Amino acid sequence: MNIAIVGTGYVGLVSGACFSEMGIDVTCVDIDENKITKLLNGEMPIYEPGLDDLVTRNVKADRLHFTTDLTSCLDKVEIVFSAVGTPPDEDGSADLKYVLEVARTVGRHIKKHVVLVTKSTVPVGTAKKVRAAVQEELDKRGVEIEFDVASNPEFLKEGAAIKDFMTPDRVVVGVESERAKKMMEKLYRPFTLNGYPILIMDVPSAEMTKYAANAMLATRISFMNDIANLCERIGANVDNVRKGMGTDSRIGSRFLYAGCGYGGSCFPKDVKALLHTGIENGYHMRVIEAVESVNEEQKNIVFDKLSKAFNGDLKGKTVALWGLSFKPETDDMREAPALVVIDKLLKAGAVINVFDPIAMDETKRRIGDVVTYCKDMYEAVIDADAIALMTEWKQFRMPSWAIIRKAMKNYVVVDGRNIYDGEELKELGFIYSRIGQK
Ligand code: NAD
Repeated sequence: MNIAIVGTGYVGLVSGACFSEMGIDVTCVDIDENKITKLLNGEMPIYEPGLDDLVTRNVKADRLHFTTDLTSCLDKVEIVFSAVGTPPDEDGSADLKYVLEVARTVGRHIKKHVVLVTKSTVPVGTAKKVRAAVQEELDKRGVEIEFDVASNPEFLKEGAAIKDFMTPDRVVVGVESERAKKMMEKLYRPFTLNGYPILIMDVPSAEMTKYAANAMLATRISFMNDIANLCERIGANVDNVRKGMGTDSRIGSRFLYAGCGYGGSCFPKDVKALLHTGIENGYHMRVIEAVESVNEEQKNIVFDKLSKAFNGDLKGKTVALWGLSFKPETDDMREAPALVVIDKLLKAGAVINVFDPIAMDETKRRIGDVVTYCKDMYEAVIDADAIALMTEWKQFRMPSWAIIRKAMKNYVVVDGRNIYDGEELKELGFIYSRIGQK
């Protein structure tokens, strides 16, 4: 089978590499020449564990190709995936300009039937717009070519993307015709053969499933942050509460961690887009609105705790930030809570040392030299007044606190991810605080 994947980002590149691993011939397309040049030179444009090997192996096997020109492969492919970005527009709705541009390019150049599958996260109704955009271009050309549109939202998580793609809980596919259904079933046969279910449904339900799933996960996080903030005020410990709740099989233990707010390229924008879809359709999604507002406030919590530790005066204080990416095992800085903390600390006149195992280059690209980039977590704490843990990378779990205490000027530790033993740190002379416990 021959397919093209347009958009070679976190989703497109991982999907392309994984499909090619299953023996499918894949052409990954991107308008970003720099990205494609890197890939043609064997360099990964993003950090994702295991991706490098997977890409190298399949390029060598001549099953995985990269180009900036979608038209160069359109004649040979049966399926075109659209995995381009859908960033939030000013009003929070999903900006579909890249998705529709791909549809127009397909309409301008196809010579035979293809299934155009949207893998990007798009609001209900997008497939109709995609169909109309392709058809408009065909009409301009004055040709009649059959095509299908389909929806195949992606559920992978950055940091575990390859495993998620290769061993999915389920594959969701929305189709409008028997022909598209058969082709999508054929494409995913290597996965269904291994027992991973494919759920075929109508297109609006497939589009909605992705938003409902992300909104549910974001809801669990905001819910726990709300509970944590109350725990702090009444003398309870949210981690005990989490264990007590999570062992109830109706609730389950995953995604119940309090922290400094969710970030990343998906939850914030998808929650906003869902709210917007509600408004457009005359429905006020009150739960989702609260999920977003709790999260916006939660992103301030680490700064507020730092500020409190210094009686509201952070001017001239040096803060070491451990972790920058929105979660471990990725270099993705989109909507990372660390960016909010950096911004607030700078405004308060603090000096900032940062260390992240992977996301330093990306942070530098975004914010430049307003902070000091350190070579490791220990360099970051030299003469520091405080440490703020922002991302729970494994290497931050067991630091040598004795060395750290000697290097610091003051001993404030704000644990934004609740990974340290507060009693141990207090015994060592640190002024320790965490989320959801006094
Ligand atoms: P990304 O920004 O990493 O990649 C998008 C790529 O599309 C970029 O490389 C960009 O240059 C390219 N592009 C834009 N317009 C193009 C065009 N006309 N032709 C060719 N390439 C074009 O984005 P991402 O994180 O991979 O997300 C893609 C979509 O998948 C989004 O809708 C997102 O919500 C969804 N999604 C993301 C994740 C995730 O964890 N990142 C998970 C599930 C779903």
